Amino acid sequence: MRVLVVSDQIVESINSPALTQIARGVEMVLSCGDLPAEYLEFIVSMLNVPLYYVMGNHGGNGGEKLYPDGCDNIDARVVEYKGVLIAGLEGSMRYNNRPDFQYTENEMKAKVATLTPALIKNRVQYGRFLDVLVTHAPPYHIHDATDLPHTGFKVFTWFIDQYKPHYLLHGHKHIYDQREEAVTLRGATTVVNTYGYRIIEISK
Ligand SMILES: [Zn+2]
Repeated sequence: MRVLVVSDQIVESINSPALTQIARGVEMVLSCGDLPAEYLEFIVSMLNVPLYYVMGNHGGNGGEKLYPDGCDNIDARVVEYKGVLIAGLEGSMRYNNRPDFQYTENEMKAKVATLTPALIKNRVQYGRFLDVLVTHAPPYHIHDATDLPHTGFKVFTWFIDQYKPHYLLHGHKHIYDQREEAVTLRGATTVVNTYGYRIIEISK
């Protein structure tokens, strides 16, 4: 399945009628967070395919609209679309006292634990736990940084080793240098920093 993945940065060509050309054949859109609701609503109105998203840590900073209409928030949920198994985990490492979209390592561990029954159900029903984990923050020591806001979650790395999804798609870590690594293989999982946009193929 051809999938458009977006996060963190508004890309002008995506935010324009050119989107229908760029996203030709796309059957699903995934957002890894920190994008305005209006941008996601535009994408979904142009492509007329499902858009599953998680919120980034910057959701809720201003007075702007938080949650996009016509899109599906998959934070701490497991969903299935056309045979592709997807789960989401919003937010980043906690670095200040704003209430929303920030988690300590232990809090994220607890969120991951809530997914367990659905993942096991997938394993029984489909023979695998998950195809795609959509997160905002990166896993620990994969595309992350040493400052607290950009430190990745250890439990995401554990998740990869435990449940072996085909993809972990994340955002949060902006890419200013094109030589910076954005795709990393860990075991059976391809970890992708989706900063801006990417088109990927997900095999069912
Ligand atoms: Zn972020």
